Amino acid sequence: MESIALVTGGSRGIGAAIVRQLATDGYDIWLNYQKNTKNAEIVAKEVRKLGRECELLQFDVSDELQVSSHLDELLESKCPDVLVNNAGISRDTIFALMSGEEWDAVISTSLRGFYNVTRPIVQKMIHRRKGRIITISSTSGLSGVPGQVNYSAAKAGLIGASKALALEVAPRNVLVNAIAPGFIETEMISNLPLDQILQRIPLGRLGKPEDVASLVSFLCSPESDYITGQVFAVNGGVYS
Ligand code: NDP
Repeated sequence: MESIALVTGGSRGIGAAIVRQLATDGYDIWLNYQKNTKNAEIVAKEVRKLGRECELLQFDVSDELQVSSHLDELLESKCPDVLVNNAGISRDTIFALMSGEEWDAVISTSLRGFYNVTRPIVQKMIHRRKGRIITISSTSGLSGVPGQVNYSAAKAGLIGASKALALEVAPRNVLVNAIAPGFIETEMISNLPLDQILQRIPLGRLGKPEDVASLVSFLCSPESDYITGQVFAVNGGVYS
């Protein structure tokens, strides 16, 4: 049977690069996205060009009913070997002015999304005694970033969740790790002041989505069989 990777938020940016990389590595893809069907279809086409299958799954990761209505049936007969929790949003503003909606949207996409998607998958992985779960956190979750109190809380929460889950499922040979990217060139950072950001990056450039995807690839490979419960920064040398 072919190996399957489920990537949330796979229609754009870092998630799309992860999808391309894992398809190149030989995985069939379950590609989740929320709204952007046109982009998702373009990425799916690329996967199929690589000779792999691609199942498009349009659901909001923060909505448990939507998640289960898409995943439950698929999981009756199949189980992903790899889950990449990548879907995430930011709603930046200073905390004193932050609305409850801005807080909730970011926390629920990251943390409720982690719960909704990871729980049914990890149940199957535990049963099979095999699986890799990789969650995309952020520098914000390590150091905290002003203007991103909601995002920093969500991303730090993902690190705690990944570390705790890694300890729970290690005896069942399910490996759980997190990646903390710095500034990666995607739509998410398109409104940030590039000049100021570049001054803070020792390598002097923004990251590319592929810089994150190649680490995901390693964390899915047999070469990383002894690595679990860790957080890996991909940030051009920024101390975090
Ligand atoms: P983008 O904004 O470019 O893409 C976000 C992706 O997530 C899209 O595929 C989008 O789907 C999907 N998505 C958003 N909300 C939901 C939801 N509720 N349910 C399902 N899918 C959803 O983001 P990036 O590629 O930049 O970021 C990817 C991840 O990496 C995020 O978790 C982000 O926090 C993290 N990250 C990014 C950094 C950066 O500098 N770019 C730095 C550190 C971490 P659709 O296309 O349908 O809208």
